[in-house]
Amino acid sequence: HSIFDSVPQAPPDPILSISAAFRADASPRKVNLGVGAYRTDAGAPYVLPIVRKFEKHFANDPSTTHEYLPQDGFTKFNRLSARLILGADSPALNEGRVVTVQALSGTGALRIGFAFIANFIGQRVVYVPNPTWSNHRNVVPQAGLPATRSYRYFDANTRGVDVEGLLQDLSCADEGSIVVFHGCAHNPTGADPSKDEWRRIVQVVASKKLVPFFDNAYQGFASGNLNTDAWSTRLFVQSGMDMFVAQSYAKNMGMYGERVGALNVVLRSPKAVDAVRSQLKQLIRAMYSNPPLHGARIAAAIMADEDAFRQWEMELEKMSARIRTMRTRLRDALIKNGAPGNWDHIVNQIGMFSFTGLTSQQVAFMRDKYHIYMTSNGRVSMAGLTEGTVEYVADAMKDAVL
Ligand code: PMP
Repeated sequence: HSIFDSVPQAPPDPILSISAAFRADASPRKVNLGVGAYRTDAGAPYVLPIVRKFEKHFANDPSTTHEYLPQDGFTKFNRLSARLILGADSPALNEGRVVTVQALSGTGALRIGFAFIANFIGQRVVYVPNPTWSNHRNVVPQAGLPATRSYRYFDANTRGVDVEGLLQDLSCADEGSIVVFHGCAHNPTGADPSKDEWRRIVQVVASKKLVPFFDNAYQGFASGNLNTDAWSTRLFVQSGMDMFVAQSYAKNMGMYGERVGALNVVLRSPKAVDAVRSQLKQLIRAMYSNPPLHGARIAAAIMADEDAFRQWEMELEKMSARIRTMRTRLRDALIKNGAPGNWDHIVNQIGMFSFTGLTSQQVAFMRDKYHIYMTSNGRVSMAGLTEGTVEYVADAMKDAVL
């Protein structure tokens, strides 16, 4: 007998297991629409030229070292990261009531944020949208909080946000509950509330004394504009509540594997700022001691330099424009091939994904017959499509829904 004999097999991750199945598929026609990573129109991974430029710069600069960062990360990166999401003129920043710590990308920001809540705020219930990015349901209990509950989010009939259902569910939540919002480009539905709807949501959150936790994994990648994609986050910060904001530079700088992100804790008053920072540092010290330097150094360099920042903005416009073009191409190809149904939601959705409405059986059919891979809920990564594959995918979708 080994101590390991009774370890049960964990289920495969619904998103990451798709990449493994795709790699194992020998078909030359295979298409991966599963994982949310940007691809060029040749289907290749993309390193932003501005990222490459600073990588070379730091590699060649003899003053570059690989020393430890402090537990809360690279100070310059934290300062610029908070400014990027909250805005340069943010009163919360100017009043010194924001604590920003570097995190292991967006997931790590969520993880330390929820661990902080479990340790210092209490056993609060965390509400996530239905549906949501599947990892939210893993991270919250792993951080020591009760299992998540959902609030209504997506209306399958209108293929938009069920804002009345959302508001009803939030108004029934216990005071002090944590509510996760996707700041932009909701994953997996690609449906975001309108500005007016966000204004109604912020009112309910304030009146029910809920604690918003913004997960902003796609700033600049959704609309192509960094400020537009921060709008909802800033609306909540302006209302003056205690809240959390997670950031990721995986998509918007294409640094998926470098794990660059940040957690911002926005306080009502600056009183507890030092205490909050000290406890976050303590949590980080016990988990992984301190975050990696390489990606944060590059991100900070891009954000600190006016020209580099402008180049980055242009890259974001380019990447998001290619994704929008693929939306139009796919919708048009489905109209052209006569696939039954209305496909306008593909162009109306925003961000990296389209929630196609394909059932899990149709998804399995497309995988088995056409070697096209996507998550079983019918979520398609638009960045995985190219001019060369879009018609093939549209024809397979037609075959699947007929
Ligand atoms: N939140 C959401 C909603 C996401 O879609 C993602 C990326 N798939 C993340 C967080 C975090 O990703 P990462 O840890 O790679 O930054």
